[in-house]
Amino acid sequence: MKHLIRWFLNHIPRKYLQLFAQFATRLISVFYIGNKVECNVCRRHYRKFLPYGYVKSRANALCPNCLSLERHRLMQLYLQYKTKFYTSNPRTLHVAPEFCFLRRFERLLGENYVTADLESPLAKVKMDVQAMPFKDNTFDVIFCNHILEHVDDDLKALHELYRVLKPGGWGIIQSPINYDRTTTYEDANIVTPEERTKHFGQHDHLREFGADYALRLAKAGFDVIEDHYVETLSPEKIKRNALPEHEIIYFVKKKMTVKSIDSQDL
Ligand SMILES: [Zn+2]
Repeated sequence: MKHLIRWFLNHIPRKYLQLFAQFATRLISVFYIGNKVECNVCRRHYRKFLPYGYVKSRANALCPNCLSLERHRLMQLYLQYKTKFYTSNPRTLHVAPEFCFLRRFERLLGENYVTADLESPLAKVKMDVQAMPFKDNTFDVIFCNHILEHVDDDLKALHELYRVLKPGGWGIIQSPINYDRTTTYEDANIVTPEERTKHFGQHDHLREFGADYALRLAKAGFDVIEDHYVETLSPEKIKRNALPEHEIIYFVKKKMTVKSIDSQDL
């Protein structure tokens, strides 16, 4: 199974992958009937999750029903228990929306939910995250996960995310990170899929982020919280939902600006 899934990941264009996968994995799910693991995004339970990975497969990762991965299930818990996302009807920008969240967020937020991407047929607005067609201070919440490693200029994308977020707004910006690296590794001369896999870990990655990831987010203006939320959960919970044990949530905020002026200047 892991070989089959890896083949699909590497041969079906990224933009069609989620559309295709939702049918394929539901067919496969009959072989995964059971109650050892539970997807806390779609509430289905299975014997185990499907394996997933472009280069190396991780066992017990992908929900056959909603396509959630370990990190999505962690984000779902985080949104539910650590934020007011589900109760405050925030105007939300979701860049490259993950399939497992899409319908759920649409139902929750209606018109307040804006999905955007350069290629994904799942997104309503076609745009480059490095040059967004939105006005300044438009959104209360932004989600942009596993995108920054794919774009030419991650800092430009981050500045754009910061620009369209309202003062006082917040977001989650996750990327794959190699914490063994002190600083992010990128090299514009590495361009072929083979070389990119060798240097950055995946054929379409343009960099490998290091432990300076939070500083890069901060460079765009964000206040950044590196939240080790998963460490607050019980081992049973981590096992039941197959959560990523070492994932740090990058929670960003845009400062509320308060101008103090001398009334004589008015
Ligand atoms: Zn699921």
